[in-house]
Amino acid sequence: LQSSSDSSSPSSKIHVVVVPLPAQGHMSPMIHLCKLIARDPSFTISLVNVDSLHDEFVKHWVAPAGLEDLRLHSIPYSWQLPLGADAHALGNVGDWFTASARELPGGLEDLIRKLGEEGDPVNCIISDYFCDWTQDVADVFGIPRIILWSGTAGWSSFEYHILDLLEKNHIFHSRASPDEANAVIIDYVRGVKPLRLADVPDCLLASEGQEVLKEICIKRSPVVKRARWVLVNSFYDLEAPTFDFMASELGPRFIPAGPLFLFDDSRKNVVLRPENEDCLHWMDVQEPGSVLYISFGSIAVLSVEQFEELAGALEASKKPFLWVIRPELVVGGHSNESYNGFCERTKNQGFIVSWAPQLRVLAHPSMGAFLTHCGWNSVQESIANGIPMLGWPYGGEQNTNCKFIVEDWKIGVRFSKTVVQGLIERGEIEAGIKKVMDSEEGKKIKKRVQNLKILARKAMDKENGKSFCGLQGWLEDLKAMKLDR
Ligand code: UDP
Repeated sequence: LQSSSDSSSPSSKIHVVVVPLPAQGHMSPMIHLCKLIARDPSFTISLVNVDSLHDEFVKHWVAPAGLEDLRLHSIPYSWQLPLGADAHALGNVGDWFTASARELPGGLEDLIRKLGEEGDPVNCIISDYFCDWTQDVADVFGIPRIILWSGTAGWSSFEYHILDLLEKNHIFHSRASPDEANAVIIDYVRGVKPLRLADVPDCLLASEGQEVLKEICIKRSPVVKRARWVLVNSFYDLEAPTFDFMASELGPRFIPAGPLFLFDDSRKNVVLRPENEDCLHWMDVQEPGSVLYISFGSIAVLSVEQFEELAGALEASKKPFLWVIRPELVVGGHSNESYNGFCERTKNQGFIVSWAPQLRVLAHPSMGAFLTHCGWNSVQESIANGIPMLGWPYGGEQNTNCKFIVEDWKIGVRFSKTVVQGLIERGEIEAGIKKVMDSEEGKKIKKRVQNLKILARKAMDKENGKSFCGLQGWLEDLKAMKLDR
């Protein structure tokens, strides 16, 4: 499929093969990036998924405006990775990455070779940071790899310091006790402020499957140096010292490129779950700034007990709430009886959906605060809409994001424990809601996040935004490379 406005043959275009990590939080920014590339008629894009996901993806795929010409390909993979998988269904992350590195390079090589034989040679690979195996494939064909880093620049500095963290025995050893994790201060990760061991990305502290993960992380960390560009889905004014440090190590190829979703005025994520847009009508009749939005992203789960404490707190808070309850959110399922009672009692107070049009929810005038698991997309979307946060991290690097939110940027509050560390009782949840929505501190938080909203939008300004101009810069670089070949 070619753009009707451009009659040039496919091979005269710059053909980029895009390899996302098959998870919602990584797919969303990658698709936004594709939309940005597709604006330039010099490019043609092939999106590569793994087999099990591809079928589901194609079934639900409605090309968003601007991506009508996107080609969809798949490569064989033995793991079933439905996008609707919860944290448990995904299994051991270490095994998953090991299988990817073993199985996927051959499939991608075959695909790139085939495209070349069909007269449509591939000029570069754009892939998620965690698909580091794509660098070897790029090297086989002598083409550049461009990394999309879909977390904070701060997290990338942790990845960059993996050997130091290991040497000091701060990661991948048996978990420190909560007291120790709070007492030990990590002050040698350059570009980020000193923080407690407890705030180092959870995925690096992981004890489960740690030997496999440890090896993967050690191998992955230096691969970033071989990439032509590293596009970071964050913005300079939010993390200036980290961007400065990483650029001093990796050179000007390490660039702020976010918030990517702001580039696209449609405010739509490409998702594989049906979005319930009725909630927007419900929001239309709520008071401005009054709604508490609760979402745990696409993977995090809650115990039945925790779910009930949260429900009890929401009810007691009397705040209008919009709550995303994915079908698999509660491990083992919630009790119908108490859930139905909750729904009945709060039918005039709240609205429940199984998946929300989050970008439009956060932009709605009735939004007040976001109780979030601190996945980076959710956090950045909240910032770019000026919405204060109540952070309740689950896994990955969400604990680090939460630390940044509360201590560095001061645009939210948090509970005493993460979801996986243990039960938070309803009293604490209710107090957190009141703090972020009703207190004097809450007002200051709101002011700060409103300021960051302005900076986020400035970064993506199409005239002279730092992120936007950086993104144009690497597209021009690719064009120049193609001319040179
Ligand atoms: N999202 C959405 N509707 C929902 C929940 C989430 O559109 O009901 C989107 C959200 O806007 C974000 C992504 O899904 O872009 C979740 O990514 P995040 O990094 O926040 O969390 P993850 O799912 O990776 O844990």
